[in-house]
Amino acid sequence: MKMRKQIVAGNWKMNNNLSQTEALIDALKSKSQASNAEVMVAPTFTNLYHASQALHGTTIEVIAQNMHFAENGAYTGEVSASMLKSIGVKTVILGHSERREYFNETDDLLAKKVDAALANDLRVIFCFGEELADRKSGNQDAIVEAQLKNALFHLEGEAFKNIVLAYEPVWAIGTGETATPEQAQDMHAFIRKTLAGTYGDDVANDMTILYGGSVKPANAQEIFSKPDVDGGLIGGAALKADDFFAIVNAF
Ligand code: PEP
Repeated sequence: MKMRKQIVAGNWKMNNNLSQTEALIDALKSKSQASNAEVMVAPTFTNLYHASQALHGTTIEVIAQNMHFAENGAYTGEVSASMLKSIGVKTVILGHSERREYFNETDDLLAKKVDAALANDLRVIFCFGEELADRKSGNQDAIVEAQLKNALFHLEGEAFKNIVLAYEPVWAIGTGETATPEQAQDMHAFIRKTLAGTYGDDVANDMTILYGGSVKPANAQEIFSKPDVDGGLIGGAALKADDFFAIVNAF
């Protein structure tokens, strides 16, 4: 078993109304069992409070998909870190590629969101990853390094205790195309080396680095077996309790 914290987090994205969320939670509760990995699910904002109540006292943590950097104010449609905390949420996903692509979230904006989350004692699952054109031109390492440096490397080393990294190559998200286990391992090792270069080996070796991009029951075990892969961020396959737990049990 790996020494680092292992996590499998399901990102439900903009799926499931309240009754569908209740049904999925019931199915998760009936299948949940002891696991080597921390298990998390991220419902939409409208279902977050219900889900955090319904899963209270279980081993499944309810987390948020996004938040705004401001504490409160005139930001119509947005939700703050303290609002998430007030309903028992302790972890937030930031920088998902869909937020970057459809909502123009930049590294600078994400740096502010990360600061706000950490200032409110929220743990951050920070997502990043290259696009297909970057991979084709061999630029993936440079892109990933820039994403990390621009959004995170203003932090003190201590802050990384509350950060989980999620490497998600954009070309593998929701496409059915998965990075090969070797591509994932190579990038995770590069990410760890980049962290070590600035923050030292302790921060790098303690960092949980998740892989995301079309993980499913059939490929989870091989990806998770790689030494620098510490779990997964799961989209499509997280919407079916059986598939999600088959992935959790891949550890
Ligand atoms: C994601 O959205 O983070 C993701 C990995 O999605 P999928 O598993 O559907 O590729």
